[in-house]
Amino acid sequence: MMRNIFLRLETVAADAKRRVSGGEGVANGRRAKGRARPLGAPDACSRAKRWRAQRLRPTGGNSNVDFRFNHRYTNLLQPLRRRLKLVTCGLFGVWVFGLGVLSSALALDITLPTANHALYSPSGEEQFYQGTAGHDWHSGQYGCVRSGGHQYHEGIDVRCLERDRHGEPTDRVVAIADGEVAYVASVGGQSNYGRYVLVRHRWDGVEVFSLYAHLAGFAPGLRAGQAVKRGDWIAVLGHSGTQNIPKDRAHLHLEICFQINRNFAAWFAPRMAKGDRNDHANYNGINLQGIDPAAIFLATKDKPSLNFREYMESQPVAFTALFPARRPPLSCMRAQPWCNVNGPEPKPVTAYEVWFMAEGVATFVRPRTDVTTPAPRVLTVNEPPLISLPARRLVERDAKRRGWQFTTKGGELMEMLCFQ
Ligand SMILES: [Zn+2]
Repeated sequence: MMRNIFLRLETVAADAKRRVSGGEGVANGRRAKGRARPLGAPDACSRAKRWRAQRLRPTGGNSNVDFRFNHRYTNLLQPLRRRLKLVTCGLFGVWVFGLGVLSSALALDITLPTANHALYSPSGEEQFYQGTAGHDWHSGQYGCVRSGGHQYHEGIDVRCLERDRHGEPTDRVVAIADGEVAYVASVGGQSNYGRYVLVRHRWDGVEVFSLYAHLAGFAPGLRAGQAVKRGDWIAVLGHSGTQNIPKDRAHLHLEICFQINRNFAAWFAPRMAKGDRNDHANYNGINLQGIDPAAIFLATKDKPSLNFREYMESQPVAFTALFPARRPPLSCMRAQPWCNVNGPEPKPVTAYEVWFMAEGVATFVRPRTDVTTPAPRVLTVNEPPLISLPARRLVERDAKRRGWQFTTKGGELMEMLCFQ
């Protein structure tokens, strides 16, 4: 068993070394098509409005992802090289987290959530995306596409294709991949999502959710715990939500997201103002952090053999942070079997180093024995990915501009991530 682990680690080390040495460059793996940032009006789907709708305090987001360290990187290459020496020596090896050790990767088998497949057509974006009021299709994309780039849209808005004689949408919404219905929010007026469904997937051992919002209704008998296959009918596209989406702008808001903390409701309860409610408990939108769905659909279209781990590893790391060592250390590490320590942990672990995408998605966790911290703090920053998602803004330069610190939003995210 141990021999197998070391064999695997040697492969990991060689793979990472090859990438760092320039074999695959440091390009941003994200598809530009899904990341355009034109101007747009404030959108009903935005997290900010969701907060207002529920009268909840805003906070950040993060996820349950944890991968090996072969990310494409720019400014962090020097420390990475030092780490690789450790890996080669086998000292770091037994601590490497990663789903690669636990399961072999499978091609990501996904389908678009409605019959609208214009995303795959040349210049089909206008037919695929539903823009916000007074703005074109660009404002229906994922990212900082609204309010002059100051508003972050955490999913994509898919345009309706079919309507009944009253003008109401009738498009069927299907599960984008095999999974299990995790949550059905059947009351439209409880959040900015309106009626929504969450489907839980296991992609390369990673727990990922797809979220379908603003629904008109659900497939008969749909309930939490129900297994679904890719393409199964789960709901009807609509315009439900607390923000009064007119029926002519009916659309499906789709997110591919991660649950930040499985104990979110307990973290959130003492932070709510008197009279506030958390109707959706751990499936509150605040506890879900999305990544770009269109980029994933397009990437799998371009490369059918693509697996989720490979996709995530291609995403740029925006910053790294140091967390105090605890047992268990971080919510995501406890909740996700694929990021359990692969072998005995070094002793003593004095801190955990976590690498993040600009969205706030953790992609790698590494135990440290050489440093301590009383509270989460920023270690390193890679600015280009941050600039690509300016409204997310989880880290900022400190007052003296000598280093970086968490913004209020970033600090809340770290707090959520640490909460046990
Ligand atoms: Zn939306």
